[in-house]
Formats: sequence, C-alpha cells, structure tokens
Amino acid sequence: NKFSALGLSDLLTKSLQDMGFESPSEIQEKAIPVLIQNQNHFIGLAQTGTGKTAAFGLPLIDLIDINDRHTQAIVLAPTRELGQQIAAQFQNFSKYLPEIKVLAVYGGAPISNQIRALKDKPQIIIATPGRMIDLLNRKALNISKIRYVVLDEADEMLNMGFKDDLDEILSHTPKEKLTWLFSATMPKEIRRIVKTYMHDPVEISV
Ligand code: AMP
Repeated sequence: NKFSALGLSDLLTKSLQDMGFESPSEIQEKAIPVLIQNQNHFIGLAQTGTGKTAAFGLPLIDLIDINDRHTQAIVLAPTRELGQQIAAQFQNFSKYLPEIKVLAVYGGAPISNQIRALKDKPQIIIATPGRMIDLLNRKALNISKIRYVVLDEADEMLNMGFKDDLDEILSHTPKEKLTWLFSATMPKEIRRIVKTYMHDPVEISV
C-alpha cells in the first residue's frame, strides 16, 4: 500500500482503500512522512482540492493517543462548511479506529448541543475560531493539554477577520505543542503567526 509506505498505520490505510484513495497526492506524499515523525512545526502551501485534508488528517489521527481522553488536537478552519467537511473526512479515515472521537463545532448552530457533545471527550476538535472562543469563555472546552494545532486555510481565516481570535485561542494552548499551518498564500500576517508560534518549521509547497 502506497500510504503505508509513508509511515501510516495499517488500520488507517485500510479505510483509505474503502474510500477509493489509491495513491497519495503530491501534498500527501510530501507532508505525511514529515508530520508522522512528530518532530516539526509545519507549513504547507497548498490550494483546496490538493488533498490537504488527508495530508494533515492522516498523520494527526495516527498520532492521537487512544488511551488519553484529553483534547489532544484542534483544527481551526475559516467556515462551518469546511469544518464539517474536515470532520466528515476524519470520520471516514478513522472508521477502523473506534476509539478516535472527532467533533466539529462552529457558529450558526445551537451551542448547547455542542457543549453536550464535548462531554464525550473527543480527542480531536475541529472548530471555527469564533465558536471556539465562545466555548473557551464558557469553560466548556479546555485546550491546555493539546499537542497539535492545525490552522487550515490560514490566509482565509485572516481575510475573514479571525486574527485576534487566533491569537486568543493560541494563548490558551501549551507552549510545547506542534503547529501545522496550511495556506494557499503567505501574506505578511501569516509570516507573523509563523514567527510568533512556530519554531524552525518545515515548509512544503505544491
Ligand atoms: P481536499 O483538498 O483535502 O479538500 O481534498 C479534495 C478531494 O480529493 C476530497 O474529496 C478528497 O476526498 C479527495 N482526495 C484527497 N486525497 C485523495 C487521494 N489520495 N486519492 C483520491 N482522492 C483523494
């Protein structure tokens, strides 16, 4: 299996067969072997449609400690639609890993349902920035023990005015976490985030 050759586990790559993923895309081929090493901050310059969701999702799922019920990873995305798409792909990836729990939280939906769902202790939370701030303020969510932050479509999040929210969210996370940033473009504001939060990132572009 071409995905196993990138270092992913068999239970994970089995689901890729079911999904019709036969061979890795370019971003997957370049990002997965780096991310699975669990060593580096990471910048992926990639447009949507390149398979970037799997490029970060597959190594992320493999790095989750199934015996630890803390929130271990957050994925921040600019829109509710993207958040839902990421969550749906993650559910499919983790089909043979029933211990992995993934939850998407976003604005425009009742927060009470999301607060209830958080009590189930998902290890991976996918969120839009505004709703994550709201949940943090209500103490419905604790991200002080996370090991990974993924910023997906980082340039879009800044375009949508989430800069302060991103800073606020990142201030609630531990210093030792790894940050994986994906963006189609690298404007100055993204470079600032990189400089502030990411030490010696590996950078890959497709
Ligand atoms: P993304 O860029 O992550 O939004 O992915 C775009 C689409 O390509 C999604 O529908 C994925 O399910 C699909 N996809 C991603 N990687 C692969 C792959 N290696 N083989 C086949 N389809 C893929």
